[in-house]
Formats: sequence, structure tokens, C-alpha cells
Amino acid sequence: MPRLPRLSSLLLLAALSAGVPAHAAAPDVARVRAELHAIQSLAERSTDAALLRLEALQASVPETAPYALRQELLRAEVWIREDAGQLEQSYAAERKAYQLALANKDRAGATRARLGEVRQLLDQNRTDGAQAVLDDIRNGAPADVPASVRALIDSIQGDIHNAKSRFDKALASYLSALKLLQGDLAAGDHRTSLYGRIAQVYVNSDHAEKAVETTRQGLAEPGITPRASASLWLTEGIAMIRLDRGKEGIAAFQQALGLAEQAGLDGMEGSIRGNISDYYLRQHDYPRAELEARKALEVSLRVKDDNLILMAKANLGFGLMGQGKSAEALPLIDAVIAQLRKAGAVADVEAMLDEKGRMQEAAGQYRQALATVREQQALQLSSARSARDRAIAALQEEFDASQRTRQIAMLKRENELKDAELDSRHRAQLATGFAAVLTVLACAVVYLLYRRAARSNAQLQTLNRQLEYHSMRDALTGLHNRRSFLEKMQARSGRARAERRASAPGGVDCFVLMDIDHFKSINDRWGHAVGDAVLVEVAKRLNAAMRDSDMVVRWGGEEFMVYAPGTDPGHIAVLAARILEAIGSAPVDAETCTVPVTVTAGVVWLPQAAGGDIDWQSATRLADWALYQGKTGGRNQARIVSRLHAPPASVLAALDSAGGVAPAGLLEVECVPGPRRAP
Ligand code: GH3
Ligand code: MG
Ligand code: MG
Repeated sequence: MPRLPRLSSLLLLAALSAGVPAHAAAPDVARVRAELHAIQSLAERSTDAALLRLEALQASVPETAPYALRQELLRAEVWIREDAGQLEQSYAAERKAYQLALANKDRAGATRARLGEVRQLLDQNRTDGAQAVLDDIRNGAPADVPASVRALIDSIQGDIHNAKSRFDKALASYLSALKLLQGDLAAGDHRTSLYGRIAQVYVNSDHAEKAVETTRQGLAEPGITPRASASLWLTEGIAMIRLDRGKEGIAAFQQALGLAEQAGLDGMEGSIRGNISDYYLRQHDYPRAELEARKALEVSLRVKDDNLILMAKANLGFGLMGQGKSAEALPLIDAVIAQLRKAGAVADVEAMLDEKGRMQEAAGQYRQALATVREQQALQLSSARSARDRAIAALQEEFDASQRTRQIAMLKRENELKDAELDSRHRAQLATGFAAVLTVLACAVVYLLYRRAARSNAQLQTLNRQLEYHSMRDALTGLHNRRSFLEKMQARSGRARAERRASAPGGVDCFVLMDIDHFKSINDRWGHAVGDAVLVEVAKRLNAAMRDSDMVVRWGGEEFMVYAPGTDPGHIAVLAARILEAIGSAPVDAETCTVPVTVTAGVVWLPQAAGGDIDWQSATRLADWALYQGKTGGRNQARIVSRLHAPPASVLAALDSAGGVAPAGLLEVECVPGPRRAP
């Protein structure tokens, strides 16, 4: 049961550097700040010593001290205590920071401090609770919450997704946080921690190679702290081991261990030793695994970190079991499983049962192994039921199928053994029986190897598909996004004109750019949520009105683009009328209201007769111009650029220089009216 480094202390450090605005400092405020900075850098080397000095400093600062200063002291306390493994006190300090922010009407500060509550729930593996509190925080956050705090919210959202094995979503949250921090010079620590998180997502989703790339990026950040580098080294070690590069993995763990010991980061040490123990377990070096697990358990008990204690106990249990000490091992393992189950950490329970089953199998306890696998399967079934994600469900099915096969193989082996017992009177037959068992066992080993490989391949594929899907789709409407459109256009340019003609003889490639009319007033009158619902419905109507071979794109905000290749030029006006009709003929039924909606469209097709073909960029510019003509001409209509009388480049130049007014005789535009508004 490998465990990745804790993320929260890095997050808290980031919170600290996210900063409270410095007030005009009275002389002793300056002194307190200087001492605080000294303590913070001391904490990088020795948390215990730093904590003593911090306590003394806090005692010397009166309640009447400026708010910002007291807040800074509390935040330092939060992360230094966390590093020292004093989790309860750390949470308590964060609660204090929250109350203080509330009392001082610092809503952004309160938002940030309340994230501590989410962190606490996550530390306790209570992911659903963590999500609920985070949603609450997000809903209650003031509109002008600074980007640094929004980045913290995204980070912790990513942690929740990661804990729930929703890796694509976790990645998206972390990337969003990174984006929010772009160019923020003070946010180096938070950025480093995000590299660590992203690397962890890659590890968790079997992209270990990418994880190593990412940790290297993080380690190259200037001014990185020992804590952050230890954490990155730890993640790198885990990734290396996934890549079967054990030597490099252990070397990375040693780097991490050196840094953690030097800085007195007990919790981190527990985590590193836990991972080293896990590595030896995998190598079937059970005595060494046991030794490291005992050391890990010792530091983990010292810092009272429940997760680390669980991990150490699990490793100790498996280390003992591997040495045939089942009686001592099983109570440890079962206690860990019970605790994880209580916390709802489904993935961890599954991993534990998987390992337990394998070990029982290896110890020849087939009946018990079967019971364990059944338990694991029941768990998978119940989690599959609640999983909404179709892709994950499909993965589950695949996994279930292979589990069933595994069960059958085990039953078969059990029967073979029974047969062997029955036939024990006949030595010759016994020998035959044994040979059969050996054959089945050999097959099973090959099969298990295959199953492992197949499983991680399937996971990888699903994840890749999901990542690809999300990067090419608009999150709200599910339509193609601009990036997807761009790729399509690149592929289009790659295809020769003649080839395009041949695939749709006489057809043209049609571009329809649309913008919803008076959308701002829809938002203003019924609210943003209704606005969103209208966008979703318009997307649906558009999709329904087009052919499968057409591409419907969310161009941005309330603008859409349809790309319809191979369209009959004689039917373009009909196509435009169909789109206007599909969207505008009936109002949108939102839950609480009925919203009339129309669009205005600009239409251009390629190739153009005059002066040769133009590229799609010019086509969209022309479509944009035509759309604008439709807006000024009363909306709810389409304007089709039906003919250019000059080379496209000079048409565009003329439109530009005339401020959008077309000089006479330059181009022809046809107008198609939209449906009459419902009364
Ligand atoms: P016009 O007919 O001239 O296009 O008027 P309009 O009100 O639609 O014009 P404008 O382009 O100024 O307004 C677009 C509005 O769309 C502004 C923005 O707040 C809103 N908007 C953009 N994206 C979204 C979104 O994802 N959801 C919601 N609800 N509103 C959005
Ligand atoms: Mg607009
Ligand atoms: Mg609009």
C-alpha cells in the first residue's frame, strides 16, 4: 500500500506566501515580522526548535496587535504544527485563524482559513465530507476573492478528486490552479506543490514517466524549500519504482529521507520509510520490509498521523505474512481494512484486499483467498453502482470479468487439490495430480501476469480517452471547443482541394458563425444559471439540426460555429433557415421560466470563385463581419456572403479600412430571416 507524500503542508506554506497585505508597520510589528521570518526559515531545518520560538513569540504579541500580524502568526503556526505532526493543534490554529478573519470581516481570509476544515476531512479520508465543505466554501466566497485563494481552492479540489481516483478531473483542477498562479512571483511554493500534485496524479494513473518529468520540473523551481524537494523526491521514487527502475527509486527515496531527517520532518520520514517498506514487499524481501515498516510505525506513532500509522501497520502485516507469520499478521491487516472501510476509502480497501488475497494464495490458503477475492468483488460491485462515469463503469466491468476468471481458476485449483487428496492412496495417481496442479499453477501465474498488464493497459487507455475528450470538448455544452476546431482546420488544410472536391463533388465547405441575441439580458433577467441552461439547450438544438458529418463548436461565451463540409451551394440558404428555425421557433423551457431565444448568423463558404480560394481564417473573419451586419440589421436572421467581386484579401482589407461598411459592389450578401417570435 504505497502512499504518496502529504500535500497539505505544502499547501499551507503556499497559503502563507499568498500573503496578508502588509500594514503600515509600527516598530514592534517590524520586530515581530523579522522574528517570524527567522522562525520560518528555522522551520525548514528543525520544526521542533521553530515551534518553541513561535510559541514564545505568540506569547509576546498582545490581542490588540494588528489583525494582519496575528493572522500571519496563526498561519505560520498552522503549517509548522502540521510539519511537527501535531495535526489536532494545527487544525485548531486554523479554526482560530478562521474566527479571527470573521471577526475582522476579512472574507477572503476566512475563505482561505476554512480550507483547513477541508484539509482535516481529507486527512481523515472523509472525501465526501471534504467535498461538501469545499462546495460550501466556494458558494460563500466573495466575488472578488484573490486569484491566489482561488488557486488554493482548485488545488484542494484536485486533492479530493485525486483521493477519489478521478484523475482526469484532478489534473484539470491542478492545471487550473497553475494557470491562476501564472506570473505570480510570490507563489513559487504553491507552484512547486502543484508540480508535486500533478506528478502524483500521473503516478496514480499509471503515467509514471510523465510523473518523473513533472517532478524534475518542480525540482528546478528557483528557491525550492527542503520540504518541497523532499516531497518531490519521494514522488519521483514512487514513479521510478512503477517504472521498474528500483535502483533509481531507492536512490530518490534516500535523497528524500536525507532532506526530511535534516529538516526534522517526522511525518515525511514516516511516509518515505513506508514507501521503502512497500518496495521491499514487492521485491518479496519480507524481513527488510518488516524492519522498515517497524521504523515507519515508530515515527508515525510519534507524529500521531492516522494515515501513516495505517500504512505502516499494513506494511508490517504483509511483511510478517510473507514470512509465514499469519497469526501475527492477519489481525494487523484486518484492523487496517476495517478502519479504511469505516473511512470510506474504497480504493484503499480494494488494494488491501487484493494484496491480502494474493498473499493467502501464495501461502496456499486457497479457501481464504477465495473469500477475500469475493469480498473485494462485492466492494467493487457496490462502488460500480454508485459510479456515474460511464468510462469508469466500463473499466470496472472489464476488471470484474477478469476477477471472475480468477475465481474460477482458484476453484479449479481447490478441486484439483481435493482430488489429489482422495487419490493419495495411489502414489502414481498422486504424482499425476500434482503435475496437474503444477500446470494449473503455472497457467495461473502467467494468467495473473497477463491480467495485471491488461488491467493497467485498460486503465491507461480509458484515462487517455478521457483526457483527450476533455481537452477537445467544451465543459458546459459538450460541444467541440476551439482547439478541436483548429485541429479540424489543420487537417482540412492538409487535404488538397482536389481531394476535398472528389469526396463531395460540387459541394462547398460552409462556415456558420452564430451569436445569441440579447443574451446579456437573459442573464440579467433570469440569472446566470438560466443563461447556462439556455446555452446547453441551444447547443442541443444545433446538434440535432446538423448532420453527423458537420462539426458544431462552442466558439466562446454565447457564440457558436458550425462547420459543414461538402454542402450543396444551392442549399445554403435552406441550411441557414433551418438553423434559425431550430433554435428560435420555440422558447427554451428552463425549470423556473420560459425563455425566448434567437440567434443571428453570418455565413461564408469555401472555395470562393473570385480570385481563388481563401483560408478558413479569412472565412471566419468574413462570417464575423456578416454576423455583425445581421445584428445591426435587426437580429434573428442570417447574412450569407454569396459572392465576392474582388480577391478575398482585398475585400477583407477594404472592410477593415472602411470600419465594417462594405463599399458598393465589393461583395453580395443575401439575407435569410429567422422564425417569427412566438407571441
Ligand atoms: P447581442 O444581441 O448584441 O449579441 O447582445 P448580447 O447581450 O448577447 O451581447 P454580448 O456579447 O455583449 O453579451 C454576451 C453575454 O454573454 C455577456 C456574458 O456575460 C454572457 N456569457 C458569456 N459566457 C457565458 C456563459 O458561459 N454562461 C452565461 N450564463 N453567460 C455567459
Ligand atoms: Mg457575443
Ligand atoms: Mg449575443
